[in-house]
Amino acid sequence: SQTRIFHSLRPNIPLPPPSLPLSIAHYALSLLPPATAASTTPVLIDSLTGRHVSYSLFLHQIKTLSSSLLSLAPLSKGHVAFILAPSSLHIPLLYFSLLSLGLTISPANPLGSDSDVTHQVRLTKPVIAFATSSTSHKIPNLPYGTVLIDSPHFLSMIDGTSGSFDSDNDPVEVSQSETAAILFSSGTTGRVKGVSLTHRNFIALIGGIYHLRHNHNDESRHVSLFPLPLFHVFGFFALVSAIAFGGTLVMMQRFDFDGMLKAVERYRITRVPVAPPLVVALTKSELVNRYDLSSLRLLGCGGAPLGKEVAENFKAKFPNVEILEGYGLTESGGAVSRMVGGDEAKRHGSVGRLEHSMEAKIVDPVSGEALLPSQKGELWLRGPTIMKGYVGDKKATAETLDSEGWLKTGDLCYFDSHGFLFIVDRLKELIKYKAYQVPPAELEHLLLSNPHIADAAVIPYPDEDAGEIPMAFVVRKRGSNISASMVMDFVEKQVAPYKKIRRVCFVELIPKSPAGKILRRELAAYALSTASSK
Ligand code: AMP
Repeated sequence: SQTRIFHSLRPNIPLPPPSLPLSIAHYALSLLPPATAASTTPVLIDSLTGRHVSYSLFLHQIKTLSSSLLSLAPLSKGHVAFILAPSSLHIPLLYFSLLSLGLTISPANPLGSDSDVTHQVRLTKPVIAFATSSTSHKIPNLPYGTVLIDSPHFLSMIDGTSGSFDSDNDPVEVSQSETAAILFSSGTTGRVKGVSLTHRNFIALIGGIYHLRHNHNDESRHVSLFPLPLFHVFGFFALVSAIAFGGTLVMMQRFDFDGMLKAVERYRITRVPVAPPLVVALTKSELVNRYDLSSLRLLGCGGAPLGKEVAENFKAKFPNVEILEGYGLTESGGAVSRMVGGDEAKRHGSVGRLEHSMEAKIVDPVSGEALLPSQKGELWLRGPTIMKGYVGDKKATAETLDSEGWLKTGDLCYFDSHGFLFIVDRLKELIKYKAYQVPPAELEHLLLSNPHIADAAVIPYPDEDAGEIPMAFVVRKRGSNISASMVMDFVEKQVAPYKKIRRVCFVELIPKSPAGKILRRELAAYALSTASSK
């Protein structure tokens, strides 16, 4: 019933009318203070080399690159551009240029295996790709080929000396309902799917964050460090919103912990968006004492659960740094709830209140009934940031988004009586290794292809540093004596490093429901009981 819908308690905000043609790139840049847009304030800095790009140059380069791209190939609205590259100063520029042309960007993890990339390309049907000399070999032939963004040619496309530059292109009218990005997620079950997010999804998201800050008179300019991957929804929306606010973004090409601390000291970093394993590392590491981290004010944390003890230890070690947690999914375009300044003290352990215009239900997984505050159930979400659906997969879309537009998150949650959201557990088949998605179905499929394995199930196993690690339960074929290390090697050779199986348990039988569903909770309980008896 209506009374069991939780509504956002945030004030309504003025968003552009949905019918107005507007790309997320243009919207984000329209929020920029005019004085910043025209200034030499750095928008991007490379953490290692110190090379930087100013706001005025960045805006100029977006125009130049967009124009060079149109001269390179007959790209048009609705075309998909696949991106497979580590973080660099070029990535934000590429995102903004492609988005302003109305192309759909589809960035993927550069560590993905050949078969990951083949699967992603099959899902998204790109006409062009952008890669580096180290990742381009994974990309199949595409109609307009693959552009190497670490090549001199790409540099000439940015500075307009590529020879084919035409500055007179008319601006492209992009309708907000078009797909801005296809990001990857396995959702609640099965293999990786392409999550279709529209310009409107991101306009609502960024607009919400922007106006909330304005209402709080928070005009502080942040220097943010980006250890997050920019192909993940968290990195993507953190990037776009940091630029909309006129901040300075320090990019890390490759993550290393020491390098991160150095960058905080060198660039006087004030804010870092992080996933929980980084909070764990900061809490545990002695290295932090070697650097001056006094500029640090804020960690925006999300992507996976942050342990209560970890948060407390962090607070004790860094009393001047606030951790504000947020929660969201790829399918929700980014954070649907966030702690804002001052909340943290009030509601320890919460992931904050619903963002503007969001609605939620807490649904009993068995009866399907919508529940009351403080009762636990599956979180369903509805609102302007929720995905359009999974590309080319009507069945998975229908299973995840119901006919009234509710997104089933697969997370077990409750609201308290003040509208603060708490994440209790995950109901869906998903492992988050250092907040990276590892879909169990993919590893199970791989294990079953081994001639020594009769049956297999993969579940998350708790780990202090990584949050969770993939653990396999394996039934050997009769007569086989395959070992745990052989199982791990077999998988390691075929998957991206973060998907490795890191623990194996041999069993006689995989417990399944009468319908053949793996009883993952039973396996998880068994894994913990055998671990504690060791
Ligand atoms: P992804 O699509 O990779 O962002 O993964 C989304 C999932 O990560 C959610 O459905 C949750 O299971 C988990 N998650 C994200 N943020 C949090 C958080 N703050 N606390 C607990 N779990 C989280």
